[in-house]
Amino acid sequence: MTAPNRPQPQPGILDIAPYLPGKSGKPGSKAIKLSANESPLGASPKALAAMVEAASHLEIYPEGSSRVLREALGEVHGVDPARIVCGNGSDDLLHLLAQTYLGEGDEAVMNRYGFSVYPIITKAAGASIVMVDEDDYRADVDALLGAVTPRTKVVWLANPNNPTGTYLTSAEVARLHAGLRPDILLVIDSAYAEYVTAADYSVGLDLVGAHDNVVMVRTFSKMGLAAARIGWMVGPDHVVDAINRIRGPFNVNLPAQMAGAAAARDVAFTAELRRHNAHWREWLTTALSGNRMRVIPSQANFVMVLFDSPETAARAFETLADAGYIVREIGPSYGIPQALRISIGSEAAMRAVADVLGSMDLGK
Ligand SMILES: *Cc1c(COP(=O)(O)O)cnc(C)c1O
Repeated sequence: MTAPNRPQPQPGILDIAPYLPGKSGKPGSKAIKLSANESPLGASPKALAAMVEAASHLEIYPEGSSRVLREALGEVHGVDPARIVCGNGSDDLLHLLAQTYLGEGDEAVMNRYGFSVYPIITKAAGASIVMVDEDDYRADVDALLGAVTPRTKVVWLANPNNPTGTYLTSAEVARLHAGLRPDILLVIDSAYAEYVTAADYSVGLDLVGAHDNVVMVRTFSKMGLAAARIGWMVGPDHVVDAINRIRGPFNVNLPAQMAGAAAARDVAFTAELRRHNAHWREWLTTALSGNRMRVIPSQANFVMVLFDSPETAARAFETLADAGYIVREIGPSYGIPQALRISIGSEAAMRAVADVLGSMDLGK
């Protein structure tokens, strides 16, 4: 066998379709971005102040375990800080979980329209991703369990899910967990937990606390701090120990740690964002239902809107963009070309989007 004439990526790397972020509008344009599920109310002022304060010590390495941030999270969420690991966005933690628990020959299971980062991190670890059909844009517990094989090592579940906005109830997630072998890790990605209003939802901490094979992953990105890159996870001791061995020793920068701790404690700001979102999510869902659009009921800070055809969705995207509103096309990254994902924004943005889509000719 002759050696290749240049360095070769590990198996699986070149099978990865690169992540496609939401569009931002033309450089310099005043377009309003409703494509990345960002906070329409900015960040917590207390988080900003903490970040500015921390930025006066940039010559010093951060405390490597994000202790101050873990303590704040532990206090606010009623979790032992020793069971928390922080990351450079939850993306960092999802990658670390894949690196730790998946390798060549292994399989990870996810629902077909689950978060598009899961196939990337699974393949990056050399494993295969198994995509399972959904039930009308909602994860199907029986189908997920039916896809488990002796090779399965991880199940990825975003709850609520991005890009559909749908969720599994606490009882359904418990049933999913109960059907998994104890050596399969169930990763519950609760990125939108703060926005859920359904009474039968659980963030996953109950399962994490009761079992050895469940972790919950969270983020500050959807709560006004996307640029700061702060994620966190809660897991059993043995998972926390393994992740702490391979994570970067200073994986969360100091301004982010301090901003995160202040944001976690600013429960009034979180409540305000949640109230704004719940109001305008319901308003937009009602306003868009009709005129040949179907809005999938969402528990997140966006809604997925289905049109008659991919062409109609593309026309709606362009018409919104011409009016100055950039939403998310989810054909390319998710394979739902007849849909658009619209983040819940300001009142003015929501009224404008409803006006534009309400007055378009949305026939084929
Ligand atoms: C936005 C999002 C994340 C968060 O990613 P960060 O790296 O923390 O910004 C994680 N999971 C899902 C399902 C998301 O939609």
